Amino acid sequence: MTNIAEIAEMDRRTVLHPFTYLKDYATGDADPTIMETGKGVRIQDATGREYIDGFAGLYCVNIGYGRTEVAEAIARQAYKLAYYHSYAAHTTEELARLSDRLVKMAPGNMSKVFYGLSGSDANETQAKIVWYYNNLRGKPLKKKIISRERGYHGCSVVAGSMTGLSFYHEHMDLPVSGILRTGVPHFYRGAHPGETEEAFSQRRADELEALIIAEGPDTVGAFIAEPVLGTGGITPPPDGYWPKIQAVLQKYDVLLIADEVICGFGRTGAMFGSHLYGMEPDLVTVAKGLTSAYVPLSASIVSQKIYDVMEEATPRVGSFSHGYTYSGHPIGAAAANAVLDIVEREDLAGQSAKKGAYLMMRLKAAFEQNPIVGEVRGVGMLAAVEFVADRGKKAAFDPALKVGARISQAARNRNLIARAMPHGDILGFAPPLIMTEAEIDEMVSIAKAAVDEVFKELDSQDAV
Ligand code: PMP
Repeated sequence: MTNIAEIAEMDRRTVLHPFTYLKDYATGDADPTIMETGKGVRIQDATGREYIDGFAGLYCVNIGYGRTEVAEAIARQAYKLAYYHSYAAHTTEELARLSDRLVKMAPGNMSKVFYGLSGSDANETQAKIVWYYNNLRGKPLKKKIISRERGYHGCSVVAGSMTGLSFYHEHMDLPVSGILRTGVPHFYRGAHPGETEEAFSQRRADELEALIIAEGPDTVGAFIAEPVLGTGGITPPPDGYWPKIQAVLQKYDVLLIADEVICGFGRTGAMFGSHLYGMEPDLVTVAKGLTSAYVPLSASIVSQKIYDVMEEATPRVGSFSHGYTYSGHPIGAAAANAVLDIVEREDLAGQSAKKGAYLMMRLKAAFEQNPIVGEVRGVGMLAAVEFVADRGKKAAFDPALKVGARISQAARNRNLIARAMPHGDILGFAPPLIMTEAEIDEMVSIAKAAVDEVFKELDSQDAV
């Protein structure tokens, strides 16, 4: 039996938790939740309380919890050879096999895979590859990287700077220089009255072009974006967005980095978000679904076009001088191979398309007529409900009311984890791709009860 009080006390004293109000935690105003076991879409804490995980951890446990075949693959590799590095052409069978399948699966014309441990470090690598590529091509000024407002690319130094959410920057001296920002393609929030989705997408592409021209095309190296904007609000792109954006990038020789950390491996209903939207990226970042988070692993996938320049430069510049102790860790590779076997065998991308359509239908039925719901949106097994004080004016609630956080908490009180997105009053859903229709029904009905409860409170406060 777990000694809950002892663990809580140790944790409170010693763990620096991400995204936690430090003082509330230190003084005991907030308690830890000690997670203990998981099976399928459900996870249990040390008190025995069971939750439906409507967010797959952090959009990552795509195959669900407790898949013993992955645990066994990890154990097999650990018994055989827990570690060797991949510097100077050392490899393992699992690593070579994983890389071969990733190059074949990935969107665009990919050539090589570099491995890290998190989405953040993989995007950090992408930035260095952009700079390296343009140095090697004799374009030393072509280095700026454009990202989007509300884009999320991690929280390390360069990746955190590419993230377009200010609370990742404040008090931490970010963003660093050389990172530019362009508009978010959120039609519901950004469109002019009467504007079509195509026209709105064109306006965003025109803004991108104007930014590149204003900065000087010879100074802009890359554009980074998630196929579907994730942490910034789970926002699928409007019609025509990606073809119009790519036309601009091609015109000015600006590389496209597709950040597939959330979208990759079936989340959107296609194997990659890039496939769904016809994107032809030069660099692809993956993490999360690559191992379904059973162990940490990320990858920066590099196109033939970029790799050819890198290889060609070898006599001049020597070896590729970038790598981590854990790049290509054999246990990560073994886990990824076991996870991708499941993704392929169970057609999780196809499942995600089918169940995602069901999820959207259920969410629309539950929420579209609700007076505090402005938009229900999503694609595949990624969905969001955005709450507003006034539907006609699309007016947001006073942030002090913390509507999104309250709804998420009300769901949690009913044993459903659905995430209050960090920007605005948005409830996010990104369940394991193996979630059944019956479990979707259960999830949506709990979410509805949570929204109804908070609506009643707001009504009694005269906030609606
Ligand atoms: N890119 C995207 C699109 C992400 O959603 C995330 C994580 N939510 C990251 C990068 C960063 O990944 P990590 O937290 O593993 O560093």
